[in-house]
Amino acid sequence: MLNSNLEKLEYVFASVSQKVKKAKSSGAKIIDMGIGDVTLPLGKTVVDAGVNAIAEMSCNEGFRGYGDSSGYDFLKDAVAKYYEGRVRLFRDEIFISDGAKSDCSGITDLFFGNVFVTDPSYPVYVNSNIIAGNFPIFLQGNVSNGFKPAPDGNVPVEAVYICSPANPTGVVYTRSELAEWVRYARRHRALIIFDCAYEAYITENCPHSIFEIEGAEDVAIEINSFSKSAGFTGLRCGYTVIKNERLKKMWKNRQASKSNGVSYPIQRMAEAAYSEQGKSEWRQNVAYYLDNAGLLLRAIKRSGTYCVGGVNSPYVWFDCGRDSEKFFDELLKYGLVATPGAGFGKSAKNFMRVTGFSSRENTKIACEILSEALKR
Ligand code: PLP
Repeated sequence: MLNSNLEKLEYVFASVSQKVKKAKSSGAKIIDMGIGDVTLPLGKTVVDAGVNAIAEMSCNEGFRGYGDSSGYDFLKDAVAKYYEGRVRLFRDEIFISDGAKSDCSGITDLFFGNVFVTDPSYPVYVNSNIIAGNFPIFLQGNVSNGFKPAPDGNVPVEAVYICSPANPTGVVYTRSELAEWVRYARRHRALIIFDCAYEAYITENCPHSIFEIEGAEDVAIEINSFSKSAGFTGLRCGYTVIKNERLKKMWKNRQASKSNGVSYPIQRMAEAAYSEQGKSEWRQNVAYYLDNAGLLLRAIKRSGTYCVGGVNSPYVWFDCGRDSEKFFDELLKYGLVATPGAGFGKSAKNFMRVTGFSSRENTKIACEILSEALKR
């Protein structure tokens, strides 16, 4: 029998990408503030590490074939060092992968049943659970809960996805909000899947890791990535951290069965990204994106509309006061692309996402266009 769950998936951004393609092909100048992808180049330290690693493999002594599917120790040690001062990690708790998307979706191999997902959310959580035959239960994000819905203590689930800082809203969970989720998970024996792919954007005093919360070790799995910090979206590297003994064994078996790991040069590049010099290079890029997001946030706020994100995240999320797909069409007429909230969940129909992943020049133009459009 074919897995017809795959036919249930909706790709809500299809019409949006088609419209953008059409506008671009007509020769119009388009400023794309909708993309969730980094735009600045890799740092020198990372590039040098990649070049050296490939050169190493060109001779007998340096050649490497398959590595451990969970990653090389040198990268696990670099990850553990990155966490130092917040959380103590051991090598056997770290599983290197080709990115957070693979792990957020692959993790569904660990459980069956009902899953809490916030609405709006990163679409991978919903789609991968539908493919796996699980049942997403949506927790509505809205203005009154600041797009951080609390657990419904009356509903037991197998797993919960929490994204902090969140895509698409850019909101970040506080220590007490995460502690409430850990209490829920412990009471209901639910698994917390904590996606902190945007952790490097946190500027306020909020947890960077779910393991900073007491009691999380038994119930949580953390997924992080080099994509949005060190700019690895085109290189592919991330990792999952698991402390619970049983889950650790299960995930090790799962990875060994389904993956041959990440290439040696990419792991060397990721190691370099977490070196002191590597971090200082990509932190400049993160600061640049955050400054862009700050400009967008202030421009939108001045128009008097509800707006969050942009402080601990490259994403700014705002109420456009009308159907987001219609607002998308209006902005496109001015040559600006933003992402309609409808693509991230049903409760986000009147919201839009813009991102700081652009040039300063384009961000300033986008601010002007948004201010004009929001007046109407
Ligand atoms: N998690 C979130 C919340 C994201 O927004 C993204 C990418 O946009 C990812 C994970 C995917 O990251 P990666 O490039 O490591 O697969």
